[in-house]
Amino acid sequence: MARKKIVAGNWKMNKNLFEGKQLVEDILHSGIELRDDVEVVIAPPFISLEMTASLIKDRKGFFLAAQNCHQEKSGAYTGEISAEMLKSVGVDYVILGHSERREYFGETDAVLAKKVDTVLAQEMKVIYCCGEALQIREAGTQNAHIQTQIENGLFHLSEAAFKNIVIAYEPIWAIGTGLTASDEQAQDMHAFIRSLLAQKYGDAVAQSTSILYGGSAKPSNAAGLFAQPDVDGGLIGGASLVAADFAGVIKAR
Ligand code: PEP
Repeated sequence: MARKKIVAGNWKMNKNLFEGKQLVEDILHSGIELRDDVEVVIAPPFISLEMTASLIKDRKGFFLAAQNCHQEKSGAYTGEISAEMLKSVGVDYVILGHSERREYFGETDAVLAKKVDTVLAQEMKVIYCCGEALQIREAGTQNAHIQTQIENGLFHLSEAAFKNIVIAYEPIWAIGTGLTASDEQAQDMHAFIRSLLAQKYGDAVAQSTSILYGGSAKPSNAAGLFAQPDVDGGLIGGASLVAADFAGVIKAR
């Protein structure tokens, strides 16, 4: 089965409502022509979800993501947002396990496994992030590290549930640093992740799951990364905050 190609823009904690509206409008007016197998996903902060939903609703191929959600269904969790709330404003995808959530907010694989279940129960899709720190890459143990993150966060799922899972490989040493994994480093890790899926769920799941690369992807390096057979698209941080750059990455896909 052909895999979906996805370019997702993670705005992180950037852009107020007005700036965000301008950015979405600029992206929509940047002359992007999407092939049928390509999806563009926009992940603004919570306060801009509804606005973004209304701007993209008639644009084929554009989807909405949240950057996080709480693992419990509802209750006394002041300041948190539930999966059901996200669903109610039209969210299609939830990004889970971003390295910034793991590092600054103490999100463990166990918590993430619960969040994955909570999001899937609301019939939204998950973009599950994994990635290794520089010391791990330098020690050469990156494959074992990624395997643990994927097994702990996702491998409790059924084969059927996997149709709503997208994986994003984001080496931490490449996020926001200007350093990008080489095309070969990205391909090697993506092929390894796909082999894990094949061992656990079989070839059909492995071949139909989209695996995105994230880490300083931009118009100048996206084409090389996206040309790799197991790189199905990108999770884009910094370059998603400038419409022309985001459009440039999308066009590379
Ligand atoms: C990210 O945080 O998901 C990311 C890939 O950021 P950047 O593109 O800025 O490295």
